[in-house]
Amino acid sequence: MGHFCVNCGVPLVVKNIEGRALEVCPNDSYVLWRDPKVSAAVVVEHEGGIVLGKRSIEPGYGLWCLPGGFVNDDEDPAGAAVRECMEEINATVELTGLLGVYHVPKTTASSIIGIAYRGRVADGASISAGPEMLEVRVFPRDALPEIAFPSHRAVLEAYVTSLERGVEAAPVIGAGSALTQVLPLQGPGQRKPRRTR
Ligand SMILES: [Zn+2]
Repeated sequence: MGHFCVNCGVPLVVKNIEGRALEVCPNDSYVLWRDPKVSAAVVVEHEGGIVLGKRSIEPGYGLWCLPGGFVNDDEDPAGAAVRECMEEINATVELTGLLGVYHVPKTTASSIIGIAYRGRVADGASISAGPEMLEVRVFPRDALPEIAFPSHRAVLEAYVTSLERGVEAAPVIGAGSALTQVLPLQGPGQRKPRRTR
């Protein structure tokens, strides 16, 4: 409460709009909509396991998480996912599929709509800790450490379940305005296909 109009600067007043109490400008059409934020997370496959980062910042300091973060307003979520991988695990990551979409409800901040991708470290690339990580490591998917966020835990469970059932992740759409090239999905134990550019 106690916000001001971004158009004319007067204090907003509470009004009921579509069944919700929202702050609106008494002078013009401005409405302070309470929208969710969008985040992206990636299950990055590498050397037979999954890449996780140990967080050097709160929330979740010292616990492990998937590379990921918030999508900027000028970004495609797939592009944001690749950028976050570069920032957090210092690796070029190729997205290989869409694992799913999840919701993190919050009461004191914006709720989050999360988009979970499957990806892999590009051929010849290595991983190392970015500034928000104490370390990065590859874990076998049946021996994962304590995960910082329930949403990332759920994504990892969905990933493992999808592999066990042989369910392929859906194609990634986006990363620009054209359809992203979808790489062949790898089941457990299969060799990585060579990628030519
Ligand atoms: Zn106004």
